Amino acid sequence: MDVTNLYTNITTSLGLKALEYWIDKYPHKIHCRFSKQFILEASDIVLKNNTFSFDDKHYEQRKGTAMGTKMAPTYATLTLGYLEEIMYEKTKQHFDEQTSGSIKSHWKRYLDDCFIIWNDSDANLEAFVNLMNDLDPDIKFTMDKSSQSIPFLDILITKHEEHLSTDIYYKPTDTHQYLHFSSCHPSHTKRAIPYNLARRICTIVSDKEIRDKRLSELKTFLLQQYYPMGIIEDGIKEAIKLDREYLINPTRSQTSDLKILPLVTTHNPRNKNITSTVRQLNNVLKTDEEMTKVLEKYTFINSKRQPRNLRRILCKSSFHQQHLYSVKKCSDLRCGTCNYMKTGSTFNFGNKDFTVKADMTCESKNVIYCITCAGCGQFYIGETGTTLRTRIRIHKQHINQPEYRKINVSGHLDICGRGQFSVFPFYQLYTDNVVQRREKEKYFIKLLKPSLNSSL
Ligand SMILES: [Zn+2]
Ligand SMILES: [Zn+2]
Repeated sequence: MDVTNLYTNITTSLGLKALEYWIDKYPHKIHCRFSKQFILEASDIVLKNNTFSFDDKHYEQRKGTAMGTKMAPTYATLTLGYLEEIMYEKTKQHFDEQTSGSIKSHWKRYLDDCFIIWNDSDANLEAFVNLMNDLDPDIKFTMDKSSQSIPFLDILITKHEEHLSTDIYYKPTDTHQYLHFSSCHPSHTKRAIPYNLARRICTIVSDKEIRDKRLSELKTFLLQQYYPMGIIEDGIKEAIKLDREYLINPTRSQTSDLKILPLVTTHNPRNKNITSTVRQLNNVLKTDEEMTKVLEKYTFINSKRQPRNLRRILCKSSFHQQHLYSVKKCSDLRCGTCNYMKTGSTFNFGNKDFTVKADMTCESKNVIYCITCAGCGQFYIGETGTTLRTRIRIHKQHINQPEYRKINVSGHLDICGRGQFSVFPFYQLYTDNVVQRREKEKYFIKLLKPSLNSSL
């Protein structure tokens, strides 16, 4: 059996009731730092403030838990576990002792996938499914049954005269596209894949002959993903060595008292592995008394963060067009600059088109602007921290009153342009810092080589 859309169908009231039930049942499992009230209130916050944006619209998920939150799988498991507790009680009322006892001992579940071996009548099975579907109005179970064989998770279970056999189960849609060997992952990750897939086959497949057949299929799948034969065969050899009893029921290896301190870096095959350097620095840090106390409890392990892959770079949940910035006149009738303003989104510097990345007017401050002489069409690049309007007023003064002139462009515009020119602010800084603005001006002068900036 499995639950239809489990995550989105757990109502917050059911989920919180389930959490409370388990907290009350196993209070000693919870760290003393967290009170029951705290956990319930925190969960309530996570569950009720679930928002996301798509295509520039914001949404609030009203029902169920989000798929991506850290608490979702645990929360869903605890909720179904709680419903199971109710189910065990109800089966005692509905069925005789033998049937209810058999249900309790044969019922298995992994998250929302459930499994049961049914030795009772078909009528009772139907009654049991109905009982499951009456546990909560929003949680619905669907059932698949067979008297020969049935898949559960990645296992195909087959019934024989005296026993059950298990085989690995691949969904019909499984294309076996395991991580490609040339993929940008740490080499130990890729080396571990053949071993772990082989180990899974050795764990699941009960018949030795079928196991060997599955392992040879695995070899084909991995060769298709360009794994070298040597790595595949080594992985399989290692996996076959393990005793199946141990594989089915592995004993946890003893964990040491040393806590692990992961050194997380973003994986890039071109980067030098800095773990050994950090280990040496660790000794430097330990010369400090306080740091020694902190570090003696930990051991460093090398840990890799996945870099942004093509999917993460290319997939976005917003589709809006990028805002097109432009230069406009301020349209104030008293403005003496409007008549000189060139408008639009792009400016042509001879052979270079420049697209503006901010909305600007005569009133914009901290801009780099370009003046074009009306006579010859040559350019001058300047900067201003005050409004462009104020700066242009000064330019006009200098053109009209030779005694105030400080820069050569004023004389040129007076004679060649007969006082006529146009101005276009093409870059705006998001800071008042004069040093940064002058650096930017210098950069553009070097890049665009406006002829009126050079001294005559
Ligand atoms: Zn204006
Ligand atoms: Zn000119």
